[in-house]
Amino acid sequence: MRRLVSLRSLGVLLAVLAMAFGAACGREGSPGAQPVAGVPVAQNVQVPGSPTFAAMQQRGRVILGVKNDQPGLGLQDPTSGQYTGFDVEIGRMVAAGLGFAPEQIEYRVVPSAAREDAISRGDVDMYVGTYTINDSRKQRVGFAGPYFVAGQDLLVRADDQSITGPQTLQGKRVCSATGSTPIQRVREQNLTQNVVEFQNYSQCVDALRSGQVDAVTTDNAILAGYAAQTPGELRVVGQVFSEEPYGVGLPRDDVALRNKVNDILQTAIDDGTWQRLYDQTLGQSGTPAPTPPTIERY
Ligand code: GLU
Repeated sequence: MRRLVSLRSLGVLLAVLAMAFGAACGREGSPGAQPVAGVPVAQNVQVPGSPTFAAMQQRGRVILGVKNDQPGLGLQDPTSGQYTGFDVEIGRMVAAGLGFAPEQIEYRVVPSAAREDAISRGDVDMYVGTYTINDSRKQRVGFAGPYFVAGQDLLVRADDQSITGPQTLQGKRVCSATGSTPIQRVREQNLTQNVVEFQNYSQCVDALRSGQVDAVTTDNAILAGYAAQTPGELRVVGQVFSEEPYGVGLPRDDVALRNKVNDILQTAIDDGTWQRLYDQTLGQSGTPAPTPPTIERY
């Protein structure tokens, strides 16, 4: 009997500890402050000739631009404030490689259309959020990477058999995000006349669920996260029609920082960290990690 009681009180103690721990993690003012899984914070880092790095050091914090509504990639838990996802982990890993601990990261949510402005104005030091590297963006910002390659696809209601690929969109209402490469492609290739645009993909997904639009188009990695959130209701078509290499957005002329971030990404690919971060985030959906991309220095 005494044994039973002591076991029970142990259980109560554990429950109390778990609650206290949970509360500490979700404490206001420290959103996202959780350790990067096994990534040590580098010591005595120097990036000679990088004004962005100098500003981060002086501030003692990194301002990291992210998305907050893309499950598996960049998602903020509304209750705890914590950020999760592959993009966020890449950002934490890069910050650690630059000598900044997770609690020294300040997250700033920037939608697709505002990224070049946010980076070039210095509102963020770095940006990690499904950000496709391309030449026109390179006129205004710099990119380290790619650290992942996605491809444009379509998300439809599960019971809609009429949309099977980009060539079946004529007459359909298609939603995507302002300032994104997918919305640009829909227009350039004239895939439909009926384009609906919002700041965020989650708004497109709401419109799809309520029947206001017939499809959402963006990167397959993003769409897979929404499909997984609504089992049986939405489905990714699976006909990829572009290549979207994801880069870490940086101030355009900070070549020293770009080189350093490329070094950090390369090390993470070589030592298995990249694979582990993928497995803990996007990999949870059951899709095994692809071969890591080749870093493209320029
Ligand atoms: N990767 C595409 C882009 O950078 C679509 C995803 C996004 O809007 O973040 O435009």
